[in-house]
Parts: sequence; C-alpha cells; structure tokens
Amino acid sequence: MDKVDEGVMLPLMEEFYTIQGEGFHKGTAAYFIRVGGCDVGCHWCDVKESWNAQTHPPTAVSEIVKNAAQYSNTIVVTGGEPLTWNMFPLTKALKESKLTTHIETSGAYPLTGEWDWICLSPKKNKLPVGRIYDEADELKVIVYNKDDFRFAEEQAAKVNKNCILYLQPEWSVREKITPLIVDYVMKHPTWKVSLQTHKYLNIP
Ligand code: SF4
Repeated sequence: MDKVDEGVMLPLMEEFYTIQGEGFHKGTAAYFIRVGGCDVGCHWCDVKESWNAQTHPPTAVSEIVKNAAQYSNTIVVTGGEPLTWNMFPLTKALKESKLTTHIETSGAYPLTGEWDWICLSPKKNKLPVGRIYDEADELKVIVYNKDDFRFAEEQAAKVNKNCILYLQPEWSVREKITPLIVDYVMKHPTWKVSLQTHKYLNIP
C-alpha cells in the first residue's frame, strides 16, 4: 500500500482561505482543502479538473495541516470526492491541531475520518453507501432539473431526523431553477434554500 492509499498523503488539488458560501455554515470564514479524485461523473460538475487524481501532487497530510492551521480554525475538506481516500490520517492531524473538521461529500464511498460537520450531497449516478445517512448534519441536494425534487425527497427519507435539508440550484441553470426551488420550499418548508453565495460574491 502506498502513502496515498493509506491516507498519509493525499492528491492535493488546491487549498484556499475563503468564506463558506453554501449550506448551514454559509458566511463563515474557512480554509478549504480540495482533494483530487472523483469518479461520480456529474455532467454539470464545476470542478472536472479534480476528477483525475494523477494530476494532483501527493502531499503529506502533515504539510496540509500545517498550512491550514495558519489561516482558520474551521477546515472544509472538499473535492473531488474526498471519501475516495482514507480520511482518518488527515482528520486526526487536524484534530490534534484543535481544528474543526467539515466535509463536503457525495457519500459514494464509505465514511472515513472524524468530522464535526458532514454535508452530504448525494448524486443520482453513484448513491451514498453505508452509515453516512445516519451521520449527516446537512443534506444538500443540487437541483438541475425537476426530477431532482423527487430525488431530494427520496434522499431526505433516508437521513437522520436532525439532518438539515437544503435545495441548491445548479449554478449554470440558476435563473431557471431558483424560482422553482423558492416555490418548492414555500410549499414544503422542511426544506431550506441554499445558494452558492461565494459565486455571487466573486470569491473562490
Ligand atoms: S461528486 Fe462532486 S466532484 Fe464529483 S463529479 Fe459530482 S459534482 Fe463533481
């Protein structure tokens, strides 16, 4: 097993300090660690450059954490699909530095790591596996077309009762979809609207 398989190194695509734009923690300053590698294949994916892990340099988690700790107490691990990799070494090191750990995941691979906040964003073409429905703090369904409302309800039926439910327009169709989401949330108020506010703010 090499160090990437063990999770001691991760294919690091980029890391940056910004404002979390989406979901429950929107508006909060956070350091983002974007890990390469994803085979979920969403056709509207806005980070397709993340898919091929080979194009992102294997980076020691100790180095990633050292950088992160200089910027923020809140660390968001995203991708790509971070659960492609073993997240225990990274989250252990983040925790040892007393940092708060958030993950954004499709749940397509078994949950690893120690998380303070789990944002589950399931995708139709590779559904979540294992216990993540029980562990998710928020469910964020990206709405690209009308069938995604059906999918959202199907997924909401699987999560734990404390999980906060969000519908978020896919960015490229936001003008068409956002009014449908507003209407849906008013009719089904267990859901909330999530917007990619960082994109409106023109920040990463
Ligand atoms: S799961 Fe995320 S990174 Fe992977 S293809 Fe879908 S949107 Fe892109």
